[in-house]
Amino acid sequence: MTIGQFLSSPDFRRHYWARNHLGWRHMDAARPNSAHHAIARMQRDGSMTGVITQNVDMLHLKAGSVPTLDLHGSYGRVICLDCGNLLSRYTLADRLDAVNPDFADRVRSRGAIEVAPDADAVLHDTADFVMVDCENCGGVLKPDIVYFGETVPRPVTDRAFAMVDAAEAMLVAGSSLTVMSGLRFVRHAAQSGIPVVIVNRGGTRGDRFATLKIDHRCEVILPSLTATTTLL
Ligand SMILES: [Zn+2]
Repeated sequence: MTIGQFLSSPDFRRHYWARNHLGWRHMDAARPNSAHHAIARMQRDGSMTGVITQNVDMLHLKAGSVPTLDLHGSYGRVICLDCGNLLSRYTLADRLDAVNPDFADRVRSRGAIEVAPDADAVLHDTADFVMVDCENCGGVLKPDIVYFGETVPRPVTDRAFAMVDAAEAMLVAGSSLTVMSGLRFVRHAAQSGIPVVIVNRGGTRGDRFATLKIDHRCEVILPSLTATTTLL
């Protein structure tokens, strides 16, 4: 979805939210893997000072990574485009359930639901879904996620650059760095003389900046890093 589509019409937004209302619970049920847990352990033992993620799935947070900087936002938050009010996705779910009492059951009876990475269920008939507006001002509610056509808010990129500047090294884990919003921090680190280690299965756009590239799965490599730390 692009931000232009989202803003284009109330009908598009109703359709979008109907699918999101079904999809987000599937995303919420997802659990962190061994790589997320390894990163959280490295934060706890002080060898990792912060996490910047391009994912909106909250898996680092669920693994206990604090702080985590969500570069592209999070599926767990909703923002009012008019007054900037932030609310929890759980709060919105309660409001949507109240005005769409048997929507999920009706959809479920039509068959299985597919869910895309941004918590967007694949669903075609959403005409009977009722969307709600901001309780503060009646404004338009949007997932607090950076969509195509939007830019990462300046305070967020400022914090990310500050994290990179304060680091002795940067570990890139499980990203092909295809979008510039993440790649620029890798480039910045390399230009500042900060060593960059990339762990990813397959090539990445950041490979030319890497001091060390490990072409393997994060779920295998990152737990072995923390095991080594423990032995030392
Ligand atoms: Zn509002």
